[in-house]
Amino acid sequence: MRDLGTAHSTAAYLYGIDVPQPRAAPTPHLQPSIISCLECGNSYAALATHLSRIHKISVAEYRRQHNLPHTPLASLATSRIRLAAQRQPDSHESWTALRISELRRARGVSQQHFAALCKVTSTTVRNWEKGRTTPQPRARLRLQQLDPGTGS
Ligand SMILES: [Zn+2]
Repeated sequence: MRDLGTAHSTAAYLYGIDVPQPRAAPTPHLQPSIISCLECGNSYAALATHLSRIHKISVAEYRRQHNLPHTPLASLATSRIRLAAQRQPDSHESWTALRISELRRARGVSQQHFAALCKVTSTTVRNWEKGRTTPQPRARLRLQQLDPGTGS
């Protein structure tokens, strides 16, 4: 079981998002960064794994037992981190100079044309292909869309 504080600061570091500080309890069992288990009273970032491991019950059973048909069983912060992770583009390390120039050549376009596709300047594309800079998140999303290998 990872320490909650560490898990959150790691997520904040990895995904570059602000994890909200706990505010004055909005509801008894849904706080911004933790959620309490009604079986044992301990608090976690999300309950599904804890429920199956410790109490040997499914989320569905837990919801039925505690009459919680619609309450989210992950804290707000965790849900946001999961969403951010799903939207997260490839890391900048994965966009090497070689991968970018190969992608551009596969499409048979000039640096200038490729720059237009990525909505950046041709200088930026030149810098990527020389390994001087790596694409920013917005450009990485565009690159992913252009890359047939990622299937999107
Ligand atoms: Zn519990």
